[in-house]
Amino acid sequence: KPEVVFVGRSNVGKSSLINMVTGRNIARVSKEPGRTRTINYFLLEDSVYLVDVPGYGFARVPKEEQERWKSMMENYFRERKENIKMVFVLIDAVAGVQKLDEQMLEWLQFIGVPFTVVLTKTDKAKQKELSRTLKQVKGYVGETAIVMSSAKEGKGKKEILSRIFS
Ligand code: GDP
Repeated sequence: KPEVVFVGRSNVGKSSLINMVTGRNIARVSKEPGRTRTINYFLLEDSVYLVDVPGYGFARVPKEEQERWKSMMENYFRERKENIKMVFVLIDAVAGVQKLDEQMLEWLQFIGVPFTVVLTKTDKAKQKELSRTLKQVKGYVGETAIVMSSAKEGKGKKEILSRIFS
């Protein structure tokens, strides 16, 4: 079955987004960043797998843990490349594009998997922060590959679902 993958920095709002999209409480929302350690699969509508990979970039994570994360990602993408139809790269609208986000976007470009950028927590972002983040993201993808979302306001759900099933 096809797979769509959700990646992003720890605490970007990935669990909240997955819960919003699935309408279920399947991904654990945590105040403590960096909790998910394995890749989680959720079968959606019996037709597509949502793949929740551990968040990256938690500063307190030791080096060896970061290396483990890297090889886990590389193995997963290598093994499943044919099945992966879309990667949703979550970017915090408030924090903007960080170094590790850039590396992720460049790596996805390099390995040649299609991706869409989802801006999270747009409810919390000031207009200035939002336009800065949008500008940064547009350095990597066209406007049509950007989705604005807020799990708090239920924003972006339809858009993401339609991209998952198209
Ligand atoms: P994850 O670590 O990427 O899975 O992020 P979580 O879903 O656990 O969320 C991290 C923190 O951000 C939690 O405190 C959430 O309540 C908060 N959060 C997540 N999504 C939103 C959102 O759309 N708006 C706001 N204001 N806060 C959010």
